[in-house]
Amino acid sequence: MSATAPITQDVLTLPRKLSDEGPVNLVGLTRDAMQAALIAVGTPERQARMRTSQIWAWIYERGVRDFDQMTNLAKPYRALLAEHFAVGLPQVVERHVSADGTRKYLVRITGGHEVETVYIPDEGRGTLCISSQVGCTLTCSFCHTGTQRLVRNLTAGEIVGQILLARDDLDEWPVPGAPKDETRLLSNIVLMGMGEPLYNFEAVRDAMKIAMDPEGISLSRRRITLSTSGVVPEIARTAEEIGCLLAVSFHATTDAVRDKLVPINKKWNIATLLDALRSYPNASNSERITFEYVMLKDVNDSDDDARRLVDLIHGIPAKINLIPFNEWPGAPYQRSSNNRIRAFADIIYKAGYASPIRTPRGEDIMAACGQLKSESERIRKVRKPAGDIAV
Ligand code: SAH
Ligand code: SF4
Repeated sequence: MSATAPITQDVLTLPRKLSDEGPVNLVGLTRDAMQAALIAVGTPERQARMRTSQIWAWIYERGVRDFDQMTNLAKPYRALLAEHFAVGLPQVVERHVSADGTRKYLVRITGGHEVETVYIPDEGRGTLCISSQVGCTLTCSFCHTGTQRLVRNLTAGEIVGQILLARDDLDEWPVPGAPKDETRLLSNIVLMGMGEPLYNFEAVRDAMKIAMDPEGISLSRRRITLSTSGVVPEIARTAEEIGCLLAVSFHATTDAVRDKLVPINKKWNIATLLDALRSYPNASNSERITFEYVMLKDVNDSDDDARRLVDLIHGIPAKINLIPFNEWPGAPYQRSSNNRIRAFADIIYKAGYASPIRTPRGEDIMAACGQLKSESERIRKVRKPAGDIAV
């Protein structure tokens, strides 16, 4: 096939069509899909693998979006790419910076929908909290996202695009020729934004594979944590097909209470969930499963709860992450007192588990866990918050 061959029918089998919707976005395509796309527009088959590697490195290692800057490709080939493809990111429509350095991006995706991405800086590292769906099908009663219906799943490109736009904002693309800096501003990813990642498995998997690819963003699988409310049938697959660390929104120690807090429990109850976690292939002392536990006053925060929690998870390589409830307007719960949280943490600690209490970050910009999206919409309707930086 010559380099200028017309688009062929193969194109129709691509994840997004090449033709009538304009250029195909290369961001989010797996290596195989990118290779197929390049062949479909005329790249000789024997070159496609190498071209994919070159383009991949430009996009994910160097942050280049313009084909003309891909200087190791011949000019006519760059023109061919520009004719059929784009390197497109979701659009940041608002950017807020908290007093503690947390950055929250309101990100607009195709169709005008919006999700939020949060960057949380720490000493020598930084974590990006990524969304996987617009809204959520689940209705956890303490979660603001749970009050919104699911609008749609994000594509792999929209998921990985959140990483790229954060690196843009952090100005974290290598400067050619400069010595390689091993400390990273964006060193960790948590899939703890809006949505249930295991209900958008394929797109999340493809995006995380891209994040881990050594020729690009190159994050270790141990620096990626996927949080699930407990979609049991997808848990083993998470280890096998993604290989990242796992966090589980546990939040209760009896089925009666968990049914109310995390209604997916009615489908897969505590015993079933724990069985799946016990056989999580990657769990080990160096790769513990995080049990997230939101502290709700007089609901799940008693000493008895703490003791039951320790008994339930016995034998699972685990750490327990206590999350002080982040209140939102109209929420039917209150945050447990600091003393109660400390007493709860103490019981867990004495039983031999690490029990860090998650410090809420970015509260002044409503970027904390479970406060995402609807809050931004509400604020925007009412007023522009003073002191925030908006783009
Ligand atoms: N859907 C996934 C991931 C997104 S939620 C899940 O449920 O695991 C990320 C974490 O924030 C979950 O543990 C969730 O239970 C918790 N969370 C949700 N709303 C919260 C709130 N208002 N305060 C504190 N934590 C909350
Ligand atoms: Fe969805 Fe997670 Fe919120 Fe539950 S806690 S409603 S699963 S985003």
